[in-house]
Amino acid sequence: MKKEKMKLKENEIPVREGIFVFPKDENDTPHLIGGKCLDCGDICFPKRILCDACESEEPLEEVLIGEKGVLNTYTVVRLGYPNFDLPYIMAIVTLPESDDLHAVAQLEDCEPEEVRIGMQLAITTGKIKTDFSTGKDVIAYKYRPARD
Ligand SMILES: [Zn+2]
Repeated sequence: MKKEKMKLKENEIPVREGIFVFPKDENDTPHLIGGKCLDCGDICFPKRILCDACESEEPLEEVLIGEKGVLNTYTVVRLGYPNFDLPYIMAIVTLPESDDLHAVAQLEDCEPEEVRIGMQLAITTGKIKTDFSTGKDVIAYKYRPARD
């Protein structure tokens, strides 16, 4: 099994704060930061301030989700901004933690001709692009085929 990276290196920045966490130890995986409604139990990603399923006025609880997923659909990006390494696969991943819950992510460790809708995926992290202003690698959550 591929070793997951545990934190950012000096030449890396996160795509956005508060959207994912690195593994807490070598037996852990990265996770997405979702929001769980304490009234209806609905889970959203990214975490919102309030639940839009039941319109509860209670703040959502932070939950770690997205360890695994299923490929809902995808596209292969062959033309794009020069700071992205082309081609790359952009995916919509169905998450098991709630009904109609999805994450948008790049797929890695997978050639375009290997991609199959419905394939089992596992979360990982990696470079998605180079930051224009700093030249640093922008790190985000990604998914890869679940091979273990
Ligand atoms: Zn709710």
